[in-house]
Amino acid sequence: MTELLIASGNAHKVEEIRSILAGLPLRVLSLKDLPTTPEEPVEDGDSFAANAEIKARGYGTHFEGWVLADDSGVVVPALGGAPGIHSARYAGNHGDDLANRRKLQGEVDALGGSADAHFVCSLCLCRPGLDAEIFESRWHGEIFPDDRGDNGFGYDPMFQPQGETRRAAQMSDEEKNKCSHRAQALASFRTYLEKTPC
Ligand code: IMP
Repeated sequence: MTELLIASGNAHKVEEIRSILAGLPLRVLSLKDLPTTPEEPVEDGDSFAANAEIKARGYGTHFEGWVLADDSGVVVPALGGAPGIHSARYAGNHGDDLANRRKLQGEVDALGGSADAHFVCSLCLCRPGLDAEIFESRWHGEIFPDDRGDNGFGYDPMFQPQGETRRAAQMSDEEKNKCSHRAQALASFRTYLEKTPC
């Protein structure tokens, strides 16, 4: 059976992808299933898609099967697209969600209280001998300069999806996983796989 390596150290993400791909003739592996953990490729691309491809190709040099990598973040057009590809380390330290939100909250406050925003998720599938495939989706909404809700992660407490009165952090995982940028990109990835021989 074809092996698909999910190039992410995030166990939650790997499980989400595993459940979305259930029923397809693929053996889904995570980095933890490899005999040694490969060095993380340097994400120095200038777009979400470029960074997802760098990751997928980088891990692909250590693995003979297929590799899926993702890159995601939040984009505020009124801030020139920030935080964008710098979302995870916007305030300086990688993964410091609270500091990242505080920095963005100050900037959104200065814009007058709220701003249009969207999350982006880019997935890149690399298969030996074939061109890389990109699946990219957006989740549109509005970003506010305060936090509401305790679920989710990252910028969820500040983000109100279009058509919602709640922030993403006030939605259950199940609700978020039906409409988020990641859920939409994974749905197109699954549709692609259903039409592609594994
Ligand atoms: P990564 O692609 O998992 O490294 O995510 C990059 C960063 O984007 C995260 O650290 C979060 O700050 C932000 N981000 C990505 N997806 C989400 C989401 O679904 N909710 C909130 N923040 C997110």
